[in-house]
Amino acid sequence: MAFPQTRMRRLRASAGLRGLVRETDLSPGQLVLPLFVAEQTPAERGGRTPIATMPGVERLSLAAAVEEAHEAAALGLAAVMLFGVPAEKDEHGSGAWDGDGIVQLATRAIKQAAPRLLAITDVCLCEYTAHGHCGVVRADGSVDNDATLELLGRTAVSHARAGADIVAPSDMMDGRVAAIREDLDGEGFPETPILAYSAKFASAFYGPFREAADSTPAFGDRRAYQMDPANGREAVREALLDVREGADMVMVKPALAYGDLIRAVKEATDLPVAAYNVSGEYAMVKAAAAAGYLDERASVLEILTSLRRAGADTIISYHAKDAARWLAEQT
Ligand SMILES: [Zn+2]
Repeated sequence: MAFPQTRMRRLRASAGLRGLVRETDLSPGQLVLPLFVAEQTPAERGGRTPIATMPGVERLSLAAAVEEAHEAAALGLAAVMLFGVPAEKDEHGSGAWDGDGIVQLATRAIKQAAPRLLAITDVCLCEYTAHGHCGVVRADGSVDNDATLELLGRTAVSHARAGADIVAPSDMMDGRVAAIREDLDGEGFPETPILAYSAKFASAFYGPFREAADSTPAFGDRRAYQMDPANGREAVREALLDVREGADMVMVKPALAYGDLIRAVKEATDLPVAAYNVSGEYAMVKAAAAAGYLDERASVLEILTSLRRAGADTIISYHAKDAARWLAEQT
């Protein structure tokens, strides 16, 4: 039946009707807040250093990270995702698996302070290597996939030992999920889940993050290991390989320009799917809102809802705290 028997507007007539037929929900328990924990923090600002390209996001001292975790827990967020900013970097990124490294210390402190809040740790080397690449660099400047796997496994085990609830490899080396699974199992952590950054694209939208985590590559770029934004079927293939290697959850990153792939990965796998609403996506909204071009609250909730609609079970977002507050006000 068509118009005039069918009138789509009937079910849009009131808030009650709209609520009754709403297809997609968004709640704080689906959101993960990324935190940048810095080993050396200036004494000023109580251990918080603003990140110019990400208004409202700061590099945190250990104590400030614990404060953020308390706040995240109080707001009902699912988890924090920890990124380390070490004081010292070296050729191999040894700070990544240091038992007393910044992420390991932060994980312990946060789990002690807010035991029910999940601590997810980013497993990669780029924040710890002097060259800023995600793996071992050969003499010719290329990244050695297989030599990197051992270091990633070591890093994941050190995070599990510190109490991480989930480890999340973001390096895009081939075979790293299987390598990490084997190392975790071998070291007594068979129950630690792996959230694989399965389809991580070489994206312009990571720009602000690199300032935050101080992880800009010193030479070249990451296109030899991160994915080409033009490739969708390859994203599904990456996700299926990670499933076969033992991933417990898969991720698509970035999120906003990749809704089609969140949906494709969701349909191709039976695993929970995470979407990473990245720094550049955050910065765009903040800049437009600051200029008066966009309503920040409405835009953020619409973006996050669209990622849920695309198929994301979990969304990692710098907007997480604000979104949780706005959602609480709505109900
Ligand atoms: Zn990396």
